Amino acid sequence: MAKLLRGFRDLFEEEAQKLTTVEKAARSVFKIYGAKELRLPTLELKEIFIKATGQTTDIVQKEMYAFEDGGGRLVAMRPEGTPGVARAYIENNFQENPLQKFFYIGNMFRAERPQAGRYREFEQIGLEYIGNASPAADAEVILMLKAIFDKLGVKNYKVKINSIGCKECRPKFREDLIKFFTAQKDSLCEKCQTRLEVNPLRVLDCKIDGPKFTQSAPKQILCPACQKHFDEVKKYLDGKVPFEVDPCLVRGLDYYTKTVFEFQADIAGAQNALAAGGRYDDLIASMGGPKVPAVGWALGAERVALASSFEEQKSKTIFVVSVEESANNYAFNILQTLREKGLSAQGGLFDKNLKAQMKQANKINASYAIIVGGNEVSKNTAVLKDLTSGEQKELSLNDLLANLEGK
Ligand code: ATP
Ligand code: MG
Repeated sequence: MAKLLRGFRDLFEEEAQKLTTVEKAARSVFKIYGAKELRLPTLELKEIFIKATGQTTDIVQKEMYAFEDGGGRLVAMRPEGTPGVARAYIENNFQENPLQKFFYIGNMFRAERPQAGRYREFEQIGLEYIGNASPAADAEVILMLKAIFDKLGVKNYKVKINSIGCKECRPKFREDLIKFFTAQKDSLCEKCQTRLEVNPLRVLDCKIDGPKFTQSAPKQILCPACQKHFDEVKKYLDGKVPFEVDPCLVRGLDYYTKTVFEFQADIAGAQNALAAGGRYDDLIASMGGPKVPAVGWALGAERVALASSFEEQKSKTIFVVSVEESANNYAFNILQTLREKGLSAQGGLFDKNLKAQMKQANKINASYAIIVGGNEVSKNTAVLKDLTSGEQKELSLNDLLANLEGK
């Protein structure tokens, strides 16, 4: 009965802390770059994802948690953040202020096969820069990701970029790919055989077939405008972040135009895509909004946490112990005073004997114990024990607090 759903997780302190650290690093970078938080609902009309993410994507075809709600509406748990941001942008009439830089932090839901670094509920931190068509915007959002990765001490990550062109130049690339893949249809995986006609770009993104064709697949020939845009993105990035141009980098989502990018790192046994994004100049208009360019990304917080090198935080907890009933109230007051002073303090296990209380202090790795009995109550003192060195001394209550506040 009491059983977790497959692909879902309970995150206890240690893992939750890691995600909080990733969020903090991202927030500090968002502040520097002037991005504003947008908290989005978890549930949206399913239609929004079909329109934005794309009818033929894996996400929409089989990964969405979608259902009919009590009012007969078809709704879905968000599998990604961009469609919601686009919807919010359209609904809130930003005509007066078309230039917006939003970030969001939230859980996403995809019914895919669980593996290390791949869950059915996971956290994404995303950034959407709306209203700037300049390649400087593409470079800026990539540099924001770099800043977050560097802050977290992610080592040996790779930045891959590509341009998948626009409405002008992509159709030709599509045709070339269809021709190329049709000629060797039998060697494609089952999924790709069906993908082939609807969305041949996605064959390159397939985990099975993609790598086989890295060398041989036809390359996108960009129209002059897209080529110029791409060249400028590279120029802006030059010297600021090492990157590789990967002509086979496409994205699993339908809405991208021009620049696409991915941050990858080897995490032992887990998926290597840490963050991904690109430009989506046609998305907002295609959802019924104004014609406004945009570029953005999302990072997978769990994967980034796995790749980060965190400084271990040493516990500085003080544990308050009472050795007899007559001292309980006195001990409880000390405990409360410590907390009011902003010190991390635990204790209050006054129904247990001294030994059991000290055992708990060790269990939670407390750095100090404050021990009081009737004797200390009468003198208005307490015994401070350093749990690392074992040293202990009796101090007046005032000295004790002064002593601890400095630590
Ligand atoms: P992948 O190629 O690993 O399936 P994706 O292309 O589906 O990733 P996006 O939709 O671009 O990923 O999402 C951005 C980021 O979110 C990914 O780079 C990854 O870090 C993270 N992510 C995506 N799906 C999952 C998942 N099921 N579990 C954990 N993290 C995920
Ligand atoms: Mg995926």
